Amino acid sequence: MQTLHYDVVVVGGGAAGVAAALASSRNGTKTLLVERNASFGGEATNSWVSAFCGFYTKGEKPEQCVYGIGEEVLAKMREYGEDTDYVINPSTKNASIRFHPEVVKVVLDDILSASDVDYRLCTTMIDTKVEDNKLVSIIIMDDEDKYEVYADAFVDCTGDANMIHMCGLKTMWGDEDGSIQQSSLSCLVTGVPKEEIKIDTLEAAIKKGKEEGIKDLHKERGMIIKVRNEDYGYLTIPSVTPKDLSGEELTKDHIALRKQALAYTKAISTYGEGFEKMHLLATAPYIGIRESRRMIGKVIIKGEEMLEGKKCDDVIARAGWPCEMHKGTGVKFTAMKENDWYDIPIGALVSKDIENIFTAGRSISAESVALASLRVMGTGFATGHAAGIVASVYAKDGNYDTKAVQKILKDQKALI
Ligand SMILES: Cc1cc2nc3c(=O)[nH]c(=O)nc-3n(C[C@H](O)[C@H](O)[C@H](O)COP(=O)(O)OP(=O)(O)OC[C@H]3O[C@@H](n4cnc5c(N)ncnc54)[C@H](O)[C@@H]3O)c2cc1C
Repeated sequence: MQTLHYDVVVVGGGAAGVAAALASSRNGTKTLLVERNASFGGEATNSWVSAFCGFYTKGEKPEQCVYGIGEEVLAKMREYGEDTDYVINPSTKNASIRFHPEVVKVVLDDILSASDVDYRLCTTMIDTKVEDNKLVSIIIMDDEDKYEVYADAFVDCTGDANMIHMCGLKTMWGDEDGSIQQSSLSCLVTGVPKEEIKIDTLEAAIKKGKEEGIKDLHKERGMIIKVRNEDYGYLTIPSVTPKDLSGEELTKDHIALRKQALAYTKAISTYGEGFEKMHLLATAPYIGIRESRRMIGKVIIKGEEMLEGKKCDDVIARAGWPCEMHKGTGVKFTAMKENDWYDIPIGALVSKDIENIFTAGRSISAESVALASLRVMGTGFATGHAAGIVASVYAKDGNYDTKAVQKILKDQKALI
């Protein structure tokens, strides 16, 4: 086994992890980013979740509430000819930025290769070593070798709090009853209407399909994330509720989801007006997980704090996406006030149990209801940006000063 030494190690190269690694490195700490897939982007590229939510508030005239590294990613997308203006969903009135997953892969490769971050794809964290209440090292592996990586600070951006789980720490799972949101398989479909698609239209077709006896249809309300002005998009309705993240469970889930993908295509193309030519081209490489394990942090963001648009002095990022809850047969949105946001406090990124572990993105310390808002990728860029700075400051000083973190974030053009 080889040995590597860094100041900061970030595991997971989704929106949160890429932002964390870039932020840490730009603050002068030697940083490694590890990702098990063959591309960066996390669910954006590996689960074909092809819209950035959370960059804008909800309102007649949405306002941008995430800048910093998130904005830099959008700017690079524009260089590749992508339109990064928001689109307002006709059913939910929420504003999101549509993108092509292949462009996002290249954009993140470009930004990382122009930075001082050391990064490795096709590399998986398989273990952790904790001593005296500190994470000392993690073990990563590729198809050649295993590597023990030592660092002063670690950032868990695995989306599923895998690092924290491997440290043997307790995590949160779901709401007070242990119920989590559904996970869904994104399906690339062609032959759909070019205009934005209404949730009600899809629901009517799925219900009719159920009545007519098509099997493997469960959820009734959901979306096709349309590629702007094109006749294709990503159907995200086939859904399951994993009971854990074991290979045994996820094997069963992927097999069930593939069957559902065929069934939803059949129901919508048979009974959806304007969808007669809809075909399934492919399903995403990996199930998209909306909710799983979350870190227990020094602060746990509460559902009511999100809905009331709570502001705080120890803010490190803004969150403007409403609560989007996928349970049962539908999806339910609960919004804040027009164009409002809530502040994310620094304590939600800091482990309660081990002082040199930080997190961001989907593993953030929050109640289930708040996570239904916080998990989106625009917000993930913002929390990742902040977690990278907190980890970097900790690696340099052995603690973190909130005011110092806030100043660096502002210097790096983040909006707090
Ligand atoms: C069906 C669906 C639709 C959604 N729709 C939207 C939407 O329209 N807009 C939006 O903004 N958000 C949407 N979301 C939410 C969003 O996709 C995720 O919450 C977001 O991607 C989380 O970002 P993240 O960086 O925290 O984690 P992820 O994107 O999950 O990235 C985590 C990364 O960590 C890596 N990793 C995990 N464990 C290890 C390990 N042991 N070693 C190495 N690497 C590891 C994974 O491979 C992954 O690449 C949706 C989610 C789903 C499931």
